[in-house]
Amino acid sequence: MATQIQAIRGMNDCLPEESFKWQQVENTLRQVVAAYGYSEIRTPIVENTALFKRSIGEVTDIVEKEMYTFSDRNDESLTLRPEGTAACVRAGNEHGLLYNQEQRLWYMGPMFRYERPQKGRYRQFHQFGVEVFGLDGPDIDAELILMTARFWKAFGIRDQVKLQLNSLGSNEARANYREKLVSYLAAHEDQLDEDSRRRMQTNPLRVLDSKDPKVQAVVADAPKLIDHLDDESKAHLDGLCQLLDAAGISYEINHCLVRGLDYYNRTVFEWVTDSLGAQGTVCAGGRYDGLVEQLGGRHTTAVGFAMGMERLILLLDTLGQLHQAASTADVYVLGSGDSSTAVANQLAEAVREAMPKLRVLNHRGGGNFKKQFKRADKSGAQVALIIGEDEMAHSQVTIKYLRTGADQVTISQAQLIDHLREYFV
Ligand code: ATP
Ligand code: MG
Repeated sequence: MATQIQAIRGMNDCLPEESFKWQQVENTLRQVVAAYGYSEIRTPIVENTALFKRSIGEVTDIVEKEMYTFSDRNDESLTLRPEGTAACVRAGNEHGLLYNQEQRLWYMGPMFRYERPQKGRYRQFHQFGVEVFGLDGPDIDAELILMTARFWKAFGIRDQVKLQLNSLGSNEARANYREKLVSYLAAHEDQLDEDSRRRMQTNPLRVLDSKDPKVQAVVADAPKLIDHLDDESKAHLDGLCQLLDAAGISYEINHCLVRGLDYYNRTVFEWVTDSLGAQGTVCAGGRYDGLVEQLGGRHTTAVGFAMGMERLILLLDTLGQLHQAASTADVYVLGSGDSSTAVANQLAEAVREAMPKLRVLNHRGGGNFKKQFKRADKSGAQVALIIGEDEMAHSQVTIKYLRTGADQVTISQAQLIDHLREYFV
């Protein structure tokens, strides 16, 4: 036998039972964003590598070691997108959607990062994200957080996720703070792990979100960014907190929340859960007022978030908030074989035409009635439409109720739609 070719490590198939769950989640997400008046944007999965280097930052985990980068046949360096924001900004600039305008956008789709696969962490994963351009007040930050809270409510997990908040201040305030942090870290260098010592030089704020307990102990007493904010950022954060208080959304200020991408300023937030082990961040976002300019556009403020759909679905599944597919069909059409196939097709099409929401499954592959009824039962259908020899001869159809035990009836084919309409009210 030929060897089987396997899927790529960390890139998962989504089989029918799983895809049913994904559809539930996607539908809810779409409904909620629509309820806030946001529009969808779709961008390609592949972009020029420079886009990600320039936006995410050269000394970040993503750019240093997680990108799927390759040369195409023209020797251009391309990268499978590791996140969605950079492409939104690129597209917004390219099509003139941003400068002096207000845009409320969302996207959903696969992202790619070369990470060690484990529960909640994959090499192809999916994000649902929202980006707002052209609004700079805390009111829009609050709107995004209200929206995410509504997601949790819609999914029935409002009590399982907690909001963490921080402010990264202005670039200037952050640069000043950076110096203070570096001198503090330098004084405790012997207690830092190798990774943090390296980061202390390249991207010292990332030391704050180290997962190493010893580093965390050092960081606990480090100077806090929130004590070094510029006045505008301080007022922005206060304004956001007031709006969250007024909306009854509780939060915790997490001094170590700095986010892994370089482009953030002011507000950053994460929704975290205890129910997923180490991969506890379900949704993360913040303000990135400088990115549009950094990518060649005119100054446009922006704020957004992204959620990891695999983690969300894992969480919902763990908490029993997703339905299993009970059936694939409502109506199963079967008959006496070759001679009835054309009529069966015709009746099934008529039902689909008149009642587009009904799922109508035609029996295929022949076999006796016993086999056909077995399939009908397995499909989960409520009703079987039977077109046997007699029915053919008299332009009739027999309706058998597969779940209720009610007597089957034989009616004229012309009456079928009315009959089904009455049954499936
Ligand atoms: P982490 O600290 O877990 O690596 P991150 O800071 O790299 O997360 P972001 O870039 O902020 O993550 O992406 C937003 C969300 O996307 C994360 O909060 C998480 O839910 C999800 N996510 C990120 N990387 C992965 C991955 N490799 N597999 C599955 N989900 C992911
Ligand atoms: Mg990461």
